[in-house]
Amino acid sequence: MILQKEKIIIIGGGILGLSIARKFLKEGFKKITILEKEKDIANHQSSRNSGVMHAGLYYPPNSLKAKLSREGILLMKDYCNQNSIKWEECGKVVVATSQNELERLDSLFNNGKINQLIGIKKLTAKEVNLIEPYVESKAGIHVPEESIVSYKEVARKYKEEIIAFGGRILCSSKVVNINHHNEYKELVLQNGDKLCGDIIISTAGLYSDKISKILGIDIEKKQILPFRGEYYCLKPDYEYLVKSLIYPVPNPKLPFLGVHFTKMINGGVEAGPNAILALAREGYKWSDINLNELYESISYIGLQRFILKYPLISAGEIIRSLSKNIFLKSLQKLIPDIKSEMIYRGPSGIRAQLMNQKGDLEQDFDIRIKGNFISILNAPSPAATSSLSIADYVVRSLIS
Ligand SMILES: Cc1cc2nc3c(=O)[nH]c(=O)nc-3n(C[C@H](O)[C@H](O)[C@H](O)COP(=O)(O)OP(=O)(O)OC[C@H]3O[C@@H](n4cnc5c(N)ncnc54)[C@H](O)[C@@H]3O)c2cc1C
Repeated sequence: MILQKEKIIIIGGGILGLSIARKFLKEGFKKITILEKEKDIANHQSSRNSGVMHAGLYYPPNSLKAKLSREGILLMKDYCNQNSIKWEECGKVVVATSQNELERLDSLFNNGKINQLIGIKKLTAKEVNLIEPYVESKAGIHVPEESIVSYKEVARKYKEEIIAFGGRILCSSKVVNINHHNEYKELVLQNGDKLCGDIIISTAGLYSDKISKILGIDIEKKQILPFRGEYYCLKPDYEYLVKSLIYPVPNPKLPFLGVHFTKMINGGVEAGPNAILALAREGYKWSDINLNELYESISYIGLQRFILKYPLISAGEIIRSLSKNIFLKSLQKLIPDIKSEMIYRGPSGIRAQLMNQKGDLEQDFDIRIKGNFISILNAPSPAATSSLSIADYVVRSLIS
């Protein structure tokens, strides 16, 4: 049980750090500080994503992801309405493009039913085409609740509220260490400054494993692996090919959803993301290399086992990243009419994905509490959708 007079420090000013700070302030806590290493908030995963509000189709029933995405999508829609943030309930179709995907499409549908998605419906190929005329499929699922938004804009609104409630956001403040004193903890910043706190919460995204270790939280030799997701964009003349969100049936072995088409809330259509190991935790291009971080990734036994388990997938992703034609072929599985001249290279984002030593990608959210330290260790998609419900979950766990 924590008291409102206690000093809370949050490491990381992405959408999760901001939503947790906002929630504490709304609960009457006064002394909240966010430390963010960049010059501004939400510069990494929180502004480099697909902008989809996920309804909970994919996640195992009773998992944290299932629970918090269901709660999260409803909270996010309400929040956008109350704060005049533009969003659109455009719906999503998930389509099987070959006979052997039909069984997996069925089990995905059943999962969606168990997770109580509203209005979810099986579609014949003809019905898919009533929603997405240019898709070629064997069958599909319609998920009408799914929506689009700019999470950068949501994060900016959280920031405005935090400042209005009297919270502090210190940018250019990279945490590098902690001094443990009996009565309080002292965070050490890269510039030499020190900050005391009673409760320390890590929402450090791509560095969540490192900050957890600094805080003394046991993460069982798990490690964050940075998986870059690259997008192509449809040229404006061809945006008519995509009306909403078009997803393939995902590979059940991976937590990534497969390259898909996403209508963006501020205009445009993106196609992607793929999933390749980034050569730096914040390496958004092939030329962004951090030798220390790269060595840490490739010497990690979990990654080596992952590559041995999935050699074809791993090699295939690299080839797809380097070759526009191969990327195009993945897109043509969904929309055969797409041609090379219709797309151009777009932005990229990097997923902070927790992996264990066996080479498994951790699928669920991983939120750890040890005394006065809390670590959001694994918060990949749909953590942006779930940012408000994750904040409720963390704050409830601490004050109850
Ligand atoms: C390509 C891609 C597509 C996605 N699509 C979707 C989607 O459609 N829908 C959805 O719900 N989710 C999606 N996600 C997931 C979603 O974007 C993330 O789950 C969410 O943004 C995580 O937020 P965060 O605050 O934990 O991380 P981040 O936004 O990465 O924030 C972490 C912050 O911590 C800071 N930090 C790190 N180390 C330190 C330190 N030592 N000191 C101070 N600050 C530090 C960083 O600078 C950063 O600002 C996607 C992610 C990616 C990469």
